[in-house]
Amino acid sequence: MEVISKRFFLYLSYNKALDRMAKRWGSKFGANKIIGGQTFSQAIPLITQLNQEGFQVTVDHLGEFVDSVDDAREHVRECIESIKAIAYHQLDTEMSVKLTSLGLDISRDLVLEHMELILSKAKEYGITVTLDMEDSSRCPAILDIYKTLRQKYENVGTVIQSYLYRSDQDVDDLKQFSPYLRLVKGAYKESGKVAFPEKQKVDENLKHLIKKQLLNGHYTAVASHDEAMIDYTIGLVKEHNIPNDRFEFQMLYGMRNQLQSDLVKKGYTVRIYLPYGEDWYGYFMRRLAERPANIAFALKGIFSK
Ligand code: FAD
Repeated sequence: MEVISKRFFLYLSYNKALDRMAKRWGSKFGANKIIGGQTFSQAIPLITQLNQEGFQVTVDHLGEFVDSVDDAREHVRECIESIKAIAYHQLDTEMSVKLTSLGLDISRDLVLEHMELILSKAKEYGITVTLDMEDSSRCPAILDIYKTLRQKYENVGTVIQSYLYRSDQDVDDLKQFSPYLRLVKGAYKESGKVAFPEKQKVDENLKHLIKKQLLNGHYTAVASHDEAMIDYTIGLVKEHNIPNDRFEFQMLYGMRNQLQSDLVKKGYTVRIYLPYGEDWYGYFMRRLAERPANIAFALKGIFSK
């Protein structure tokens, strides 16, 4: 049953007509429980509050699969304005971006030009920008662009998904770039040709990648709500005397709030991934696919005023 609902919501996440409709309806369906607002300004009080509670943040201006240059440029403008606002309001937040929202599907040169604009502005204020990982067809291009940018910028990171067979090799190939990597299980609908179909293998591979990246000595962000992954990381850093400033935990805003707070109280760095913007539909559907229990707050959103 869980597998069926996962496939169903991932299928819906690609539906363009529903995406357009969702934009018109605003953040109904309970999306406001997991996004920071429709604009960056609306998200500022929440980021301030999260910082006061001891959390670091990464903001993501929602949007993906842009196919017009104007839309991609608009997205760049929004990212740059947000970077300026982060600096002005002295917020403790990084930024995450999806390269498909910056023109990845249009041309490599365009997305590189856009990332140069974003990274050079972010560098001025000491802000790190992480390239989110998208579906497997885009993975080679995203990693290639990461490597190109990393040669010029220190303030860029990217993401590796443990469900992909290729990820072990990718971590080896990235080693020479001393990468800041966010390690995740993976959120897209993938075939057995490229990704482990069994959850147990995905979990085992995430542990394997966490160990490899940590023991390589590179900064490791373990992005998971799964206590087994968190406990594994804590055991590993204790065993190898890895200091707390070499790794962090990341979780999505609105997910496992108690666990987030408990980790901060224990002295670990916890970064909250906070999306904002009008393009919440694809993000929201992937969250429903991951955890059918999220449907409860989606239903509340529909029936509440
Ligand atoms: P799951 O395997 O989904 O869950 C494991 C267990 O954790 C569950 O059985 C349950 O016990 C517990 N659990 C999970 N969620 C909850 C909850 N809400 N409440 C209570 N218990 C819960 N994916 C990408 O493909 N690309 C990205 O760039 C990317 N960036 C991400 C950034 C962050 C900060 C995070 C947290 C995730 C990101 N993801 C990304 C999504 C990721 O790939 C997974 O799809 C998602 O995190 C679900 O996997 P999980 O490791 O949290 O645990």
